[in-house]
Amino acid sequence: MAQVLPIRLYGDPVLKKKALPVQDFSSIPELAENMLETMFEARGVGLAAPQVGISQRLFVAAEYLEDEEEEGPEADLKSRVKELYVMVNPVITYRSGQQSITEGCLSLPGLYAEGARRDLQVRVEYQDEKGQQKTLEAEGYLAVVIQHEIDHLDGILFFQRMPPAERQKFLDEHREDLAEFQRQAKAFLREEAARLGQAR
Ligand SMILES: [Zn+2]
Repeated sequence: MAQVLPIRLYGDPVLKKKALPVQDFSSIPELAENMLETMFEARGVGLAAPQVGISQRLFVAAEYLEDEEEEGPEADLKSRVKELYVMVNPVITYRSGQQSITEGCLSLPGLYAEGARRDLQVRVEYQDEKGQQKTLEAEGYLAVVIQHEIDHLDGILFFQRMPPAERQKFLDEHREDLAEFQRQAKAFLREEAARLGQAR
C-alpha cells in the first residue's frame, strides 16, 4: 500500500540543495510509488524527491485526460491518468523554442504565476525506476513539467526562472504566503527533529 509523504514547503533547506544522482535502485520503485500517491493526494502534475525531503535525482509526473465534467475535490485523479512518468537521473539533452505558461508548485501551494522562461521542446534522457535507460521527447505542457521538476533537483524554484522584474512582483505579491510557508517549514523540521530524537 503506497504511502502519502509530507510535502516540504518553501523555506525548507532541502528545496535549495542540489540533489545527488541515484546509484542504488533497490528502494526506488517503492519511493516512486509513494511519491505518485503523494502527488495524486495533492492533486499535482509532478513531484520531485527533494519535495518529500529526499535529496536524490528523481521525480514523478502525470499527464491527465481532460475532465469532462465539473469535478469535486474528491474526484479521483487516478481515473484520469493518461500517462505516468518516473524519471531517475534525468538530463535534458536537446532543447528548442521558448514558452511561458502558468505554473504552480506543491511546495508553494495555492500560488500560480506565468512568466518562468521555459523551452518549448525538450529531449530528456533518464532511467526508469528499475534503472532502465529511456529517452522521451516532450513539448508544450509536459516539457514545462519536466523542466520544473528537473529544476527541483538543482535547488531551483519556478519563480527563479522569471525575469527579475516579474520575479520581484511575484515575491512582493505573495510575501505573506511565502512567510507562512517558511514558518510551517521550520515547524515541520522542529517536529521531525524531536521525533528523530525520541526514536533514538
Ligand atoms: Zn514544484
